[in-house]
Amino acid sequence: MASFDIAVIAGDGIGIEVMEETLRVLAVLEEYESDFSLNLEKFPWSTEYYLEHGRMMPEDGLEILKKFDAILFGAIGDARLPDDLTIWELIMPIRKQFQQYVNFRPVKSLPGIHSPLSNGEEIDFVIFRENAEGEYSTSGGTMFDGQAEEMAVQNVIMTRDGVEKITRAACEYAMKHGRKKITNATKSNVIVHTMKMWDKYLKQVVAEEYPELEVESNYIDALVAYFVQRPQSFEVVVASNLFGDILSDLGSGLVGGLGLSPSANINPEKEFPSMFEAVHGSAPDIAGKGIANPIAQIWSGALMLEHLGRLDLADRVTTAIEDVLREGEVKTADIGGTATTAEMGTAIITKIREQYEG
Ligand code: ATP
Repeated sequence: MASFDIAVIAGDGIGIEVMEETLRVLAVLEEYESDFSLNLEKFPWSTEYYLEHGRMMPEDGLEILKKFDAILFGAIGDARLPDDLTIWELIMPIRKQFQQYVNFRPVKSLPGIHSPLSNGEEIDFVIFRENAEGEYSTSGGTMFDGQAEEMAVQNVIMTRDGVEKITRAACEYAMKHGRKKITNATKSNVIVHTMKMWDKYLKQVVAEEYPELEVESNYIDALVAYFVQRPQSFEVVVASNLFGDILSDLGSGLVGGLGLSPSANINPEKEFPSMFEAVHGSAPDIAGKGIANPIAQIWSGALMLEHLGRLDLADRVTTAIEDVLREGEVKTADIGGTATTAEMGTAIITKIREQYEG
């Protein structure tokens, strides 16, 4: 019996609602699979927790999480706290301390979902965003607060090791999935220190270790236009933390929106737990109404299953999602329907049961 220890942090807003459906889906798999079980431990780390305890997680939060096989994360963000506090006290420490230097985001056309740009041609690429350094650093500071001379410095930290590792992860994926081309998102014509180094080691790793792969380098401003003009031409996109963040939301918009976009924060060496979360945030505008689309989070759960070595179960979940969308009878508001979060969860569960029961 393969049993996995999973830390569950539902967080705030719709994170709580979409997590509930994800756990229901995972429970159904456990019901049918005699050699698979999940030991879930729920952690209430959220804005509510901060208001009560003065911190987003306990002092030894990372120590607690370290022993788990994976972390399933909902969303964080609430008007009662500044966004940077919730992000830098919970998500960022997990991503950075656990060396989750790969942020993996698939961008794929789904049946029954209209893409504003695809012309009916299938979009199917993945983004490998560097997730542990780059533009999202705490290095810097401010001086002369409120005075005419006020100044701020924010440093971009890039390391040769960091660039090589994200490039290797992307290339490994490309080799495993029969992809031929790596698209490099850069801006080395203007950002001449960090981005030039980024280009140098990215190209070197591909040339020396993956000569079968082709590298296409695009300046980020041109690349966003190409995302719109020819999204079908991409296979594996590699980007720094900031560029990758922006490209992922654009990618998500290309194939139906945030309610359908999963992500994985991966430590490929499996030295630390990896974390699986929807691309979307806590969506305060629809929180508490029971109308959020749970697909992005359920699909993130499928990415977790794949990471745990159960690609067969991941496939069951993504097939069920595609079947529900293809039929088009159950749709949440973000994709043009009236179904509730729970109704969408139930529809996916029904499809999984059908797979087992025939
Ligand atoms: P945060 O600051 O936590 O990131 P946000 O509201 O600024 O939250 P998102 O939560 O990413 O940003 O979402 C932006 C908008 O997209 C939301 O206001 C919501 O209307 C819509 N949205 C996001 N996720 C979903 C979802 N799962 N289902 C339906 N609509 C969604």
